[in-house]
Amino acid sequence: MIHSDSQVRNMAKTAFESRSYAFKAVDSVKDGVRTISKFNPEIIFIEENQPDIDASKLINLLSASKNTKNICVVVMSDGYDKDTRLNGLKSGVYDFMYKPYTGEEMKNLADSVRSFSDDVTDTKSGRVLVVEDSRIVCMVYEEIFTRLGYTFQIESDSTRAVDTIRAFRPDLILMDANMPDLDGFELTEMIRRDRELRSVRIIMVTSDTKKKSTVKALKLGVNDFLTKPFDEEVLIARMSTHLNGKRLYDDLLKAFGELNSLKDRLERLSITDGLTNLYNHRHFYDTLLDEMTKAKETGSPLSTLLFDIDHFKTFNDTHGHKAGDEVLRATAMVMSEALPEGAFLARYGGEEFGVLFPGLSLEEAFVEGDRLRHAVENAKVAFEGKIFSVTVSGGVGEWDGEIGDGPLIQMTDAALYKSKEAGRNQLTRALSG
Ligand code: GH3
Ligand code: MG
Ligand code: MG
Ligand code: MG
Repeated sequence: MIHSDSQVRNMAKTAFESRSYAFKAVDSVKDGVRTISKFNPEIIFIEENQPDIDASKLINLLSASKNTKNICVVVMSDGYDKDTRLNGLKSGVYDFMYKPYTGEEMKNLADSVRSFSDDVTDTKSGRVLVVEDSRIVCMVYEEIFTRLGYTFQIESDSTRAVDTIRAFRPDLILMDANMPDLDGFELTEMIRRDRELRSVRIIMVTSDTKKKSTVKALKLGVNDFLTKPFDEEVLIARMSTHLNGKRLYDDLLKAFGELNSLKDRLERLSITDGLTNLYNHRHFYDTLLDEMTKAKETGSPLSTLLFDIDHFKTFNDTHGHKAGDEVLRATAMVMSEALPEGAFLARYGGEEFGVLFPGLSLEEAFVEGDRLRHAVENAKVAFEGKIFSVTVSGGVGEWDGEIGDGPLIQMTDAALYKSKEAGRNQLTRALSG
């Protein structure tokens, strides 16, 4: 930081050191220039109006030198002025900050610079595959990538390239156009046809700049071109663009996948009951309507069943609500396991269960329902050292193809209450009409 006010310098020192940034402050540009060469900063905060030299001159100096042109400069200004800001940004200022300065703002700026430079260096974490038959060109690549620290592999036999891609999983391929046996065009075509490989970026390296070849390559799925003999800076710039693009694509794909599985989970949650893991009341009715439509289309029967646990209030009062919950869970489990193929089970209400039997007549559903009733009656539930069992009463109904879902369930419920009246732990057929 180059600032003449020691209070500002101290505030910055406290702010940066709290986040373990290396920080140096000086009070004049003259000292600043000396410090820059020794300290090698990533970001410089500079007071706009300096007594010895103004900020814009220093920025010009910094951007003129290869060693300092990547340093981010933040100008600390007394007040906002549109033209000064615009000219500053045009001449390479990273950002401005205005009085009153805060340590928090300084830290945020430094963080953004850091994440920006992380982005840039991150491209080196991309994987690069070179497919090139010329030994000399391969050596050039090898020298550059080793020096710059890229993760790369070189394949000089294009017929082995697909296997190499499978094994190495590159993000980017630098592909020679002219190769014996399998040329860059044919290889690109093969890669783009393969579902697993096709998201890789391809830069075609060629001395053939004819319009026809360019169009052909683009149509086959090449993303970009590099003209041979290539310039190192252009090579790196193009690679960065594509590696960044590929990374963004991968991130998006990942986020999309996460979003989708979250959506699936939410959908599942919205139709299930938390205690028993069975489908809930709403989904029972949705499914009933679907099944009524299907039954109408196919002309096959559709039966309904409602169960209600007997004397469950007394059970709770005697053994506690927690034991009651456990019994509800266990009853749900017992019924799911005994449920015939194609039937649908839901927690209809508190201690009530609903079952749909698509394709079954009243008598068939009665038989299946009574099996379920027996399964519950015979099940033993262990909880906190005690063994419990409960019974259920039920009503069975069959849809006549006419009445609505509400009346159908009312009719089934009426049968259930007849079972209760008749002494519980039994099933009753609903009378239609
Ligand atoms: P009946 O044989 O006539 O059905 O008698 P009942 O006591 O089962 O009927 P009632 O409708 O009077 O009581 C239902 C009880 O079910 C009351 C309520 O505490 C209990 N219950 C409903 N949902 C839950 C639950 O999620 N957990 C527990 N532990 N109990 C529940
Ligand atoms: Mg070649
Ligand atoms: Mg009830
Ligand atoms: Mg009950």
